[in-house]
Amino acid sequence: MPKPFSKKEIETFFARLKAKDPDPKTELVYRNPYTLLVAVVLSAQATDKGVNKATAELFKIADTPQKMVALGEAGLTQHIKTIGLYRNKAKNVIALSKLLIEQHGANIPRDRDALEALPGVGRKTANVVLNVAFGEPTIAVDTHIFRVANRTGIAPGKNPREVEDGLERVVPSEYKLHAHHWLILHGRYTCIARKPLCPVCVVRDLCRYPDKTKEGGTPTPLKTKPKAVKTRVRPAGGRAAR
Ligand code: SF4
Repeated sequence: MPKPFSKKEIETFFARLKAKDPDPKTELVYRNPYTLLVAVVLSAQATDKGVNKATAELFKIADTPQKMVALGEAGLTQHIKTIGLYRNKAKNVIALSKLLIEQHGANIPRDRDALEALPGVGRKTANVVLNVAFGEPTIAVDTHIFRVANRTGIAPGKNPREVEDGLERVVPSEYKLHAHHWLILHGRYTCIARKPLCPVCVVRDLCRYPDKTKEGGTPTPLKTKPKAVKTRVRPAGGRAAR
């Protein structure tokens, strides 16, 4: 097991991610909490870019549960055909739109249980909606966050829930609101799955990953220079989970 992060190291880790991007945002394009929910449901096992391409036209004609139900499953399917698992996703979006109308006055509930009761909505989707639409300090663990948490050693875990609970424990409260986006963006653009850009990574000296890359990557400009932290990095006992 890699050496656990000290409080100071965790603080420095997030301070540096914050310095790179003080006000991070989701890369999904949406118009209101409802379209955010739909976009997140559509984004399962798909890229944000692919979802945005499909929803650009869809949300012009269906940006409320009522309009989506009026469009119908067949109409919705035509718009999202380019997204993986689109048939199932179309079913879920129509079903969740009906439930929102019947049980929540066509509004998005600010409540985890109510969100998770909607078809196609799991813990991760509920966390994203609570965070982005309602400003709650939730951390939705997707594939990028799972990888970054395990590789760096900030919150190792065998499954997304373990990682989420670990992050809940270690992320300082002042960073919790944006931790989700900082970690996703770090995983998407720097700590990428196949070949992380370790030479240009702003948390390289803190990271416990034993297989850091030695070359490659384009430095991303920092708004402030990171503070150096002296850390003795011990090699971890094996490859981190991916
Ligand atoms: S040093 Fe490499 S493995 Fe560690 S967080 Fe940075 S990019 Fe990822």
